[in-house]
Amino acid sequence: MDKEQKLKKIKEEVLSCKRCLLHKERSENKFYPVIGEGNHRASVMFVGEAPGFNEAKTGRPFCGAAGKILDELLESVNIKREDVYITNILKDRPPKNRDPQPEEIKACTPYLERQIRAINPKIICPLGRYSMRFLMEKFELENQSAGISKIHGKSFRVNKFFYNFTLMPFYHPAVAAYNPNMKDILKEDFKVLKTLLGKILKEEEKRREEWEFEKRKMEDPFY
Ligand code: URA
Repeated sequence: MDKEQKLKKIKEEVLSCKRCLLHKERSENKFYPVIGEGNHRASVMFVGEAPGFNEAKTGRPFCGAAGKILDELLESVNIKREDVYITNILKDRPPKNRDPQPEEIKACTPYLERQIRAINPKIICPLGRYSMRFLMEKFELENQSAGISKIHGKSFRVNKFFYNFTLMPFYHPAVAAYNPNMKDILKEDFKVLKTLLGKILKEEEKRREEWEFEKRKMEDPFY
């Protein structure tokens, strides 16, 4: 299966998912699950917590108040929203925006893992402590884990099984809604992300050029 087929299959499964009780909340309120959106070839993937009301009404991640802040943060470092991929650890909205429950995270995150494998981003940014905790545990980084106040904006390498990326946790954008200091911290962290992304893309370009050079040499011994 290619990337598009894998993502299509995930979408179909999530649309009819009943792995946890949140599907009742979805059907009773005529909500949509929020699968994720953005570039399927993205270098950067953001992983939020769970859809809020606006997201569940539209099926789009980060389209409400927290989404406006995320858009502002992306804009502040000249990263286009359509160039990244945005999803959540939970695809359905928990009632009254309560925190995700462990059994919901357990039931839902296999979808996220498959999205990560299909998209294969270079950098994954958990937004907030729930997605940070899930991803750090999943990728066996617990020994480097600490509260989000200590490790936001820091890089952690993951290179095992089918995965090869840098994890860079951020505060959840919603924390900046009523706290300008938090927005400044987030903006600084987004600058760190932008620098890392630039470095990774440059290295990749260099590898691609070297590979092209070797290929031409093999095809044409006089090259
Ligand atoms: N908060 C999240 O964590 N995810 C969304 O999609 C919206 C708000």
